[in-house]
Amino acid sequence: MKTKIASILLLFITILFFSSFINNNNNTMKPFIVVLDAGHGGYDPGNTGNGYKEKDIALKIVLEVGRILEKEPNVKVLYTRKTDVFIKLHERAPVANKADADLFVSVHCDAFTNNAYGAGTFVLGLHRTQANFEVAKRENEVIFLEENYEENYAGFDPNSPESLIGMTLMQEEYLDQSILLASLIQNNFTNNLKRKDRSVKQAGFMVLYKSYMPSVLVETGFLTNKKEGAYLNSKKGQAEMAREIANGILSYRNSISLATNDSQNPVITQEEIDDAIEATEERIYKDIVFRVQLAAVSKKINTKSSNFKGLKEVSRVKEGNLNKYYYGETSDYNKIQLMKKFAKEKGYDSCYIVAFKDGEKLKLSDVLNSEDK
Ligand SMILES: [Zn+2]
Repeated sequence: MKTKIASILLLFITILFFSSFINNNNNTMKPFIVVLDAGHGGYDPGNTGNGYKEKDIALKIVLEVGRILEKEPNVKVLYTRKTDVFIKLHERAPVANKADADLFVSVHCDAFTNNAYGAGTFVLGLHRTQANFEVAKRENEVIFLEENYEENYAGFDPNSPESLIGMTLMQEEYLDQSILLASLIQNNFTNNLKRKDRSVKQAGFMVLYKSYMPSVLVETGFLTNKKEGAYLNSKKGQAEMAREIANGILSYRNSISLATNDSQNPVITQEEIDDAIEATEERIYKDIVFRVQLAAVSKKINTKSSNFKGLKEVSRVKEGNLNKYYYGETSDYNKIQLMKKFAKEKGYDSCYIVAFKDGEKLKLSDVLNSEDK
């Protein structure tokens, strides 16, 4: 009898062991899927500064990024186009959604006066400056080349800055991760290639708005600038830009693979978060102070970092019987987003952003909607 129980037990343990093995295996086997989107194509050449064609340069860079990524184990690359064909803007993000992709990266070249140069990386959001709006406007204008664009874009008008309000909500959920990816790519451009840093910025790019994953749009440089146009049109320029985009994507992937519970959450260090904050454009709400609420407990705790999993800048506010513990204090919504992300990494899973005005707590959504743009 005893041996029977023992052997059943052994069988049970064996099954447990193997099923956990299979489970783990499944997790590690799920490929990291990147969708690469070469801007424009077909009868939409994109910008043609100095006679260069944006659609061709974007495609060459994208194919090279893909070639590098495809060499990596467990990375799967999909393309919205691999040849010179026209693809509607609203058909690009669904390629990524259908594949349940981990990232969506759109590659472009900019155009302006011949003086402007440098590389910038964008995430979807409401532009903070006219210059950012103009970039998005240029990239969105292609919808006028499409039939039935009014139906496909639900009344979206590339010429109206207000048109995007209400459309950014979907990507808002991935904003912190998009900014992280963008800053990894952007830092590579400036540190490794010494490209002029046009920083990580937000604007209303139609191509990003329908994707359900972290998404960025890279403006590799200005074809309208003689020197930069020639660089981007050269094999060397394309290879270098592609390498840095690919490396940014891989750094992002590597940080994710260390994550414990949520495969979408990259593990980041204090230094990386500081770099990301540094590289990211500000999104200031005047007279508003944002903080990340970590905990509300009756106990009074010293706010030194060792009591808060290493987080610095923790403050305590007594509200009724509760002591509330906040991390960070800034009027910059992008910065507080990144700080919230970091607090989550440290184990404060249910932390959230709180907005204050003159010490009074406000509803966050009211603050974000009332923004004076
Ligand atoms: Zn473009």
